[in-house]
Amino acid sequence: MDQPTIRPVDQLRQGIPATDGAGVKLTRILGTHSFMNFDPFLLLDEFRSDSPDDYIAGFPSHPHRGFETVTYMKHGSFHHKDSLGNEGHLTSGAIQWMTAGRGIIHSEMPEQTEGLVWGYQLWINLPARDKMAPSRYQDIQSADIPVVEEEGRWIKLLAGDYRGQSGASETRFPVIYFDVKLEPGADFSQPVPADMNGFLYIYEGALEAGPDTERTAARRGDMVILGAGDAVAVTAGKDGAGFLLIAGQRLDEPVVRGGPFVMTTEADLRQAFLDYQNGVLDA
Ligand code: MN
Repeated sequence: MDQPTIRPVDQLRQGIPATDGAGVKLTRILGTHSFMNFDPFLLLDEFRSDSPDDYIAGFPSHPHRGFETVTYMKHGSFHHKDSLGNEGHLTSGAIQWMTAGRGIIHSEMPEQTEGLVWGYQLWINLPARDKMAPSRYQDIQSADIPVVEEEGRWIKLLAGDYRGQSGASETRFPVIYFDVKLEPGADFSQPVPADMNGFLYIYEGALEAGPDTERTAARRGDMVILGAGDAVAVTAGKDGAGFLLIAGQRLDEPVVRGGPFVMTTEADLRQAFLDYQNGVLDA
């Protein structure tokens, strides 16, 4: 097999403070005015606060159509409930992979009134052929998510394969979502096929990424956009590193976005608002 082409770092970006839901304070990493889409990803928010005032209001009843919301709780617990009678609890280390498809109306509320709430919500677009698919939940508790522990590496496989081991979530097209922790100086590499867009989000420590001839330093709070190639390679700094690796196959379709609905045409977006007004979004 040919040597993989290690992706260089295309750019480093930082999130911006934002407020969403009923007043939840968060950091919007992707989905800002200056960085709206990174095909197939539409949004990435980080919630990370031990002040209940920042999160207690939660996300009361709201709709979605045309994409998936993936919620990964690093710490703390959330309760979700939807218009179709689904209900579940997300506790520390768990993931919820929700395919909104043709539509759901749900609430996502913190279950705790004190302590640290730390988690991520990622929006993944659906291809036109799947936008009106039936909604589906994958609620996966932490104990059911594979973790690979190797020399200096801890890799939690939320989705995608790592050296022959499958990740926990079923995806509708190829997506990689790993939570990776590296001890000081440890290396990590992973194939990220050329037809995917990929990035890292560093939540702890610092690292260098890219091929040996072109390393780029990045640290906590940086979103590391990977350039062209078919693998990612990083080395942790002197205090180690913790990061999310997220990559997905590009859809190369129009993205027509209006609030909680993401479609491929203006007509389909209008229809989503009409269906919501008429109470048949999830019918
Ligand atoms: Mn939601």
